[in-house]
Amino acid sequence: MKKIRSMVLVSEDLESVARGAHAVHQRLQEEIRRLGLEDEIEVASIVDVGHPTISPMVIVYPEAVVYGPIHVADVPRLVDEHLRQGRIVVELLAPERELSGRIAWVSARRGALPAEQRIVLSRVGLIDPESIEDFIAHQGYEALRKVLTQMEPAEVITEITNAGLRGRGGAGFPTGLKWSFVARERRTPKYVICNADESEPGTFKDRVILEGDPHSVIEAMVITGYAVGANKGYIYVRGEYKRVQALLRKAIEQAREKGFLGQDILGSGFDFDISIHSGAGAYICGEETALIESIEGKRGEPRPRPPYPTTHGLWGQPTVVNNVETLANVPPIIRNGAAWYREFGTPSSPGTKVYSILGDVNVPGLIEVPMGITLREVITIYGRGMRDGKPLKLAQTGGSSGSMVPASLQDTPMDFDSYARAGVSLGSGALLICSEDVCVVDLARVLMNFFRRESCGKCTPCRVGTERAYQILTKIANGAGSLSDLDQLQMLANGMRQFSNCGLGQAGAVPLLDALRHFRAELEAHVRLDVCPAGVCPMGHRQVLAA
Ligand code: SF4
Repeated sequence: MKKIRSMVLVSEDLESVARGAHAVHQRLQEEIRRLGLEDEIEVASIVDVGHPTISPMVIVYPEAVVYGPIHVADVPRLVDEHLRQGRIVVELLAPERELSGRIAWVSARRGALPAEQRIVLSRVGLIDPESIEDFIAHQGYEALRKVLTQMEPAEVITEITNAGLRGRGGAGFPTGLKWSFVARERRTPKYVICNADESEPGTFKDRVILEGDPHSVIEAMVITGYAVGANKGYIYVRGEYKRVQALLRKAIEQAREKGFLGQDILGSGFDFDISIHSGAGAYICGEETALIESIEGKRGEPRPRPPYPTTHGLWGQPTVVNNVETLANVPPIIRNGAAWYREFGTPSSPGTKVYSILGDVNVPGLIEVPMGITLREVITIYGRGMRDGKPLKLAQTGGSSGSMVPASLQDTPMDFDSYARAGVSLGSGALLICSEDVCVVDLARVLMNFFRRESCGKCTPCRVGTERAYQILTKIANGAGSLSDLDQLQMLANGMRQFSNCGLGQAGAVPLLDALRHFRAELEAHVRLDVCPAGVCPMGHRQVLAA
């Protein structure tokens, strides 16, 4: 059985082919076969790489090491030293300056797989994120020009509403509707906030968008400001994303110099400017009201809602808060129209979704696919199947705050409404694929550990509920659980779900509720039989924890 540990991609754009890429590809396969590594290493081609000076390129994953230019004579050494011995061949590396900060591994997948459809990632990996000229050459700021010269603010909102764009941060709220709530407010100033505080474990799609195409989000924010009547925007960036912050600062400067930001944008009389606010490491600041508090210089604790930010947001003023991926959809919709956007996805969830795929698949990575694709397709096509051919047990969607989607739902279309009807949620876009080797008690315990640490402590159901649930799960994992513990978990989860002040506490209930609903038999095996069916929990060490 194949157990792929490395993926080798050979650039096969026209330039690379002219320089011998096909021969390099063939020689790689021969060398890998000769060393008996064909069951561990896969070779594939990529297109649209756009690095003429270092073509043909060879990119080795999962390390994402870029070599180039590679000639046939270099191949034996590369295979022997890197792929067999695990040592990077420094002499063959592509010069750093030639890579210009591009994200090679993202461009590597472009068009290489069936059904992948790139809207928000269309420029990622293809343009130099530090070059506004490159962005402009790829339709950059065209949507902004169209909006400022041909459209009234209300028409912009109508276009986004007709496109059916829904928030990609997890909730799926209709973006056009949210904008209309702010637009109808008479009070000024109004604000636009881009939520780039991407902190869900396993989620890195917003980072990829911002690192590969920072101007797309800037363009979207100016359009949003024009549509709702705001003149000021903030990008709240996760504190650890230093490179994203540097790229955004540079992009904002460039946009100001070219007249896409600042006063009288493109001679339209419309003013809009953007500031960057760095987070300080608190997961809760991804929640929109905690994020607003943080920008205001206060402790990042959520506010009770209502009132919502659309009426009482930043400094009590009307505010649009949109996620990075949501905003990145705006310029393509304006350029191509709502009808075009509705060609992708499902009627109730048009467009695409960016997912990171992790866990027990052969090939983890990042994809952008139409809404409505199924988990089975994601695993089979993009993940290249389950690792070691083991059966799927569940997928944890959306990092820690998503659902445990059981294998029985792997043919359910992944869109907001189909998932809601099935009683699960899509979350922010991380798909943690779990085989039968994963224990549900252990997984729920890990998640609860995360929530109890990240709870801001403001309200009791979350502060106490996450801590208590973690203790009970630990007790069960140690073989000291009882049936009444399962009842207690149910009660705690219900309380967290209903009475927590914000999404963190409510989301913390989801793993518990999902585990109890879909994997009750496995939980009961732990407490009735002292057996962990997956063989993960340290059963047998009966250890009664302090209640
Ligand atoms: Fe804080 Fe949790 Fe309450 Fe949210 S639910 S306010 S994170 S204690």
